[in-house]
Amino acid sequence: MNQVGYLPDGQKVASVLLGSSTDTAFSVQSVRTGKAIFQGTLGASMMDAASGDRLALADFSSVAIPGEYRLVAQGKRSESFLIGRDVYKLALRTAMRAFYGQRCGCAVDLGGGYSHTVCHLDGALHSSSGKEGRLSNHGGWHDAGDYGRYVVNSGISTGSLLWAWELYPEALKGLSLGIPESGAKSPDYLAEVRWNLEWMLQLQDEDGGVWHKQTSEQFCQFIMPEKDKLTSYVIGTGSAPYKSTCATADLAAVMAIAARCYGPYDDGFASRCLTAARKAWTWAQDNPDVTFKNPPGVGTGGYGDAHCHDEMLWASAELWRTTGDAEYEQAFLVAAEELTPEISIAVPGWGSLAPMAYWTYLMADRKGSRLANSGLAGKSGVKPEEMKARIRKQTAIAAEVLVERRELSGYGHTLAIADYGWGSNGVAANQSLLLLVAHRFETNAATKQQLLEAALGNLHYLLGRNCFGVSWVTQLGTNPFQKPHHRPSAADGIAAPWPGLLSGGPNSRPGDSVARSLAPGAPMRMWVDDERAYSMNEIAINWNAPLVFLLAGANALAG
Ligand SMILES: [Zn+2]
Repeated sequence: MNQVGYLPDGQKVASVLLGSSTDTAFSVQSVRTGKAIFQGTLGASMMDAASGDRLALADFSSVAIPGEYRLVAQGKRSESFLIGRDVYKLALRTAMRAFYGQRCGCAVDLGGGYSHTVCHLDGALHSSSGKEGRLSNHGGWHDAGDYGRYVVNSGISTGSLLWAWELYPEALKGLSLGIPESGAKSPDYLAEVRWNLEWMLQLQDEDGGVWHKQTSEQFCQFIMPEKDKLTSYVIGTGSAPYKSTCATADLAAVMAIAARCYGPYDDGFASRCLTAARKAWTWAQDNPDVTFKNPPGVGTGGYGDAHCHDEMLWASAELWRTTGDAEYEQAFLVAAEELTPEISIAVPGWGSLAPMAYWTYLMADRKGSRLANSGLAGKSGVKPEEMKARIRKQTAIAAEVLVERRELSGYGHTLAIADYGWGSNGVAANQSLLLLVAHRFETNAATKQQLLEAALGNLHYLLGRNCFGVSWVTQLGTNPFQKPHHRPSAADGIAAPWPGLLSGGPNSRPGDSVARSLAPGAPMRMWVDDERAYSMNEIAINWNAPLVFLLAGANALAG
């Protein structure tokens, strides 16, 4: 079950592993009085395909009074859990504060000993960047278990966080993060995101193009960030034009969103973001097919993507939403027609941004430009209203698939068997992002409720309702995982890991030696709490970001 707890009005279902006991009664006990306040009967025995477990469901959704409880079933008693309207508040703060923990170029102190002094100040332009010289290095979030920073992965991470700000301001405006900027004019949430935006802006060259990443040439050992003395290089493609299209278009999209979000707090910064976005867009249009591959001698993450059309699509849609300039809408409509005439909505990922483009086009509070309405936009002349209707319909279909899949899952999540690859927990969180966006567009109240419950179903899964009974977010829940592939957690001499980090999760296609040494099993079983198992237990900003999005939605929609 979800070890953090449940919303009073929400579904509350635990998955009970069946043993030899034939007792089908279960109860919910109040921790304060020790008395059973609810008695129920387990559902029919079922075989869960993802885990291979024989289960029965304990549904106690009707328990709605806030309090602390335990579940008793099959002769066993669960750890205590909470029911309450603010039950995900701390989880949201902890997951967002994890980004502060990932900050590069400054000292970090999360409290409790989780701290490091200033790191990676030694920056330089790599020979592959087309320029040379030293750079002062400042800003950005360490990407994952390593200390690299990658514009492509920053793109979707920062974009999803800013979308959460736009969709759920009621959950985020007052969020206090205890960061160095706390108490200033700008809300803490935006201040934290700005730390990464400022670094992304530094990776933009004078011509508007954006270098792909800034990392050392090879990964460092498992040491604290300030002990890593390798030079942090701005790395390019190795030949003209040196910058990559995906990174440049990602930056254009994210800076366009930032221009909307920061306007009310810092006009100067908002216009800097918009200028950067426009310049990046122009460069990407002039250089639409520059892909990235690690240059010789560089062995850090590649985030190589053979297709930058979806990044371009996203950039055009965000720029349209921000500025209302007809050229961006024309570009969006033409590209959308060329990319996928039927509009297929998938779960977004760092290499798959088309859904973000479609959704932001739908969320743009604009009527459509004069040129687009005249039918001169796309090659087949698709008009804005027609495009919006397609997006709305396909989003509803994609969400319905997830809702139906959840009905078949013994652990109440929306992952398909094929989704158990690298970062499956991030996929689950992004499926919730899709469901919450669909929830925003849906007008039928009953369907809306289903979409919300399916989104929350993945939160329950990540926070304990899974075959390990583990919370996959460090320091959340009664049994959180302990050994993330995360250098500061391994090197700081403190037993418990840094707080608020989401594990990559089960991976049925093991990609490291520890993972490969596991006995083959059902897909959900293919996970181990071992810091060496990077293909199963690494952390990453692009997995924490949709988790924050989901938690922001859960808090905002809590009633
Ligand atoms: Zn650093």
